[in-house]
Amino acid sequence: MYQSKLPRGDSPVTIIGAGVAGAWQALLFAQAGHDVTLHEKSDAAMMLSTSHWAGGMLAPWCESEIAEPVISRLGLRSLDLWRQALPDTPFNGSLVVAHARDRNDFERFAKLTSGHRRLDAAALAALEPSLEGRFRDALFFPAEGHVEPRRVLPKLHEKIVAAGGTIRFDSDVNADDLDGIVIDCRGLSAREAQKDLRGVKGEMILIETDEVQLARPVRLIHPRWPLYVIPRENNRFMLGATSIEAEDTGVSVRSALELLGAAYAVHPAFAEARIVEFGSGLRPAFPDNLPRIAIDDRKIAVNGLYRHGFLIAPALAELTLSFVARGQIDNEVMRCA
Ligand SMILES: Cc1cc2nc3c(=O)[nH]c(=O)nc-3n(C[C@H](O)[C@H](O)[C@H](O)COP(=O)(O)OP(=O)(O)OC[C@H]3O[C@@H](n4cnc5c(N)ncnc54)[C@H](O)[C@@H]3O)c2cc1C
Repeated sequence: MYQSKLPRGDSPVTIIGAGVAGAWQALLFAQAGHDVTLHEKSDAAMMLSTSHWAGGMLAPWCESEIAEPVISRLGLRSLDLWRQALPDTPFNGSLVVAHARDRNDFERFAKLTSGHRRLDAAALAALEPSLEGRFRDALFFPAEGHVEPRRVLPKLHEKIVAAGGTIRFDSDVNADDLDGIVIDCRGLSAREAQKDLRGVKGEMILIETDEVQLARPVRLIHPRWPLYVIPRENNRFMLGATSIEAEDTGVSVRSALELLGAAYAVHPAFAEARIVEFGSGLRPAFPDNLPRIAIDDRKIAVNGLYRHGFLIAPALAELTLSFVARGQIDNEVMRCA
């Protein structure tokens, strides 16, 4: 077992960044009885975090089409942690659909993933009445969930405070100025310390209509992006997401056309929806697109959550806590200086 040089006992734990990675670290450390302070440079609206722009899908089976097995492992564990922390998290499953021209890609997706069953058109209509007559069949992943990032982050922050932690918004701090254990969850802002981090742009559009009702995310097989429609509260739907190797912000016309086209392809009634918002976020990623917990004495950096932050942040927090409590190392995710 790794001999941790971390200060133990009453040593305070400071977490930098209250996005989904930092929020989960703060929650599990506070619940374990540590003296936790969470610093966040934006205000409580969290507009500066990538997490603010995310889809919030908790979809380890769908993601296994392209992600490494470690993402499924962390994701499956995280589903339990979401359930424990927030029992009202919707676990209504996810749907994958395709139009006839993308049939081969649909079959490929089915082959590369597990945890699904096939629905014929009638079973699909029974599950999502709005999709009646729209698709010949679908893949249903019944155990997947989804959260609404802009609602779930404040809930996590409330829980941190309820567990005895302190949150300081509008607080831009430097790890070198802090005592005790420091957990750096700054996402892409940590790039000066983690030089191989990059941003992968994801664009999204929020629309509103009462013409379509969905209870779960619907992924549309698409030749270029894994496009999806996620139901939000108040008749809103998030359309996401592109994945572009660029670090500018904003939404291009091409991406907007593709996202809106995908919504229209899922249901033509989306054409009458009101556009509420265009936005984009930069996913923090390492060259291998895998998450990393980097340990350097009393400083721990949790980063590279890429397109899986909501899916894996709880399990990453549990690993960090096991390391601090017992020196336990996870060889797939942790790197020790
Ligand atoms: C369009 C889109 C869709 C996505 N959909 C999904 C999805 O469906 N499911 C999923 O699991 N993931 C999804 N993701 C990925 C997910 O959003 C990211 O993996 C996740 O948000 C990364 O979280 P983080 O906490 O590491 O970074 P962030 O959310 O960026 O948080 C870092 C925080 O640190 C703060 N900070 C930086 N420097 C300092 C400082 N010096 N002092 C104090 N605070 C500081 C920042 O203000 C920020 O709030 C999506 C991403 C995008 C862009």
